[in-house]
Amino acid sequence: MSSWIYIDGTFYDKENAKISVFDHGFLYGDGVFEGVRAYHGRVFKLDEHVDRLFDSAKVIALDPGVSKEEMKQIILNTCAKNKIHDGYIRPVVSRGVGDLGLNPYLCKKATIVCIAGTIQLYPERYYQEGLKIVTVATHRNFNESLNPRIKSLNYLNNIMAKIEGMQAGAPEALMLNPAGMVAECTGDNVFAIRKNVLYTPDVHSGSLDGITRRCVMDLAKARGLQVVEGPMSRFDFWVADEFFLTGTAAEIVPVVELDKRPIGDGLPGVITKQLIADFKAFVKEEGTPIPTLV
Ligand code: PMP
Repeated sequence: MSSWIYIDGTFYDKENAKISVFDHGFLYGDGVFEGVRAYHGRVFKLDEHVDRLFDSAKVIALDPGVSKEEMKQIILNTCAKNKIHDGYIRPVVSRGVGDLGLNPYLCKKATIVCIAGTIQLYPERYYQEGLKIVTVATHRNFNESLNPRIKSLNYLNNIMAKIEGMQAGAPEALMLNPAGMVAECTGDNVFAIRKNVLYTPDVHSGSLDGITRRCVMDLAKARGLQVVEGPMSRFDFWVADEFFLTGTAAEIVPVVELDKRPIGDGLPGVITKQLIADFKAFVKEEGTPIPTLV
């Protein structure tokens, strides 16, 4: 894990990296965050992550108090300070310190934290063998309640679903939107392949506009696959030839079973494996170089 944590302009060692208990990020989950990856000494899709962080902040009427350029520097400098070559970075912007009431306007200024370390979301065998997952009863939030496109500090909706999945013995859980259409998994986007067409729920179906998702759609198009974004039901996944998940931390993970129905022949799909290889090659090319601190 990270040994130097950035908090509001200063780096603290892990033991001393603390924020106030009156921070509304802690009291109410009032804030936004990103999960970013570094590969081969470069921060992957930095602009996209910072854009999404600022979009999330704007939607919850939170002023980060720094520019996008400054935020990029915070992320790059936190990587540099921790000598990250390959790693996982977690910038967090919370509403800041206020009182015990909800009123966000009493919080004078946002708190900015950045952690840079490593992450291994799933054991290697899941990438080789594929995941067996279930649909859970906990639906994704209503767009009009807490839009799933906001990457907010309040992940209880996803955590409740994760608990349900794990109680059913599954490492991931498929979540539906309030209309019963497929939204996403608890921390990853979902894709189905049938007859050489790649399908994924559109963002209005209750999923995060995933950066790995966008990247995989581009890679699929480059392979000549047709890509379709739109409403999808569980039917579409049960009858898919291939099924996989995407996320910054997870990257691309094959799914071989949904709700006890094998996907395709019950093994990680051929196109999925090609896309995994394409993605691995792509992360070698893309990224903003991490500076060396003097
Ligand atoms: N959905 C949810 C709920 C997520 O938290 C994430 C990020 N972990 C994703 C999808 C994947 O998005 P990205 O590829 O940008 O990491």
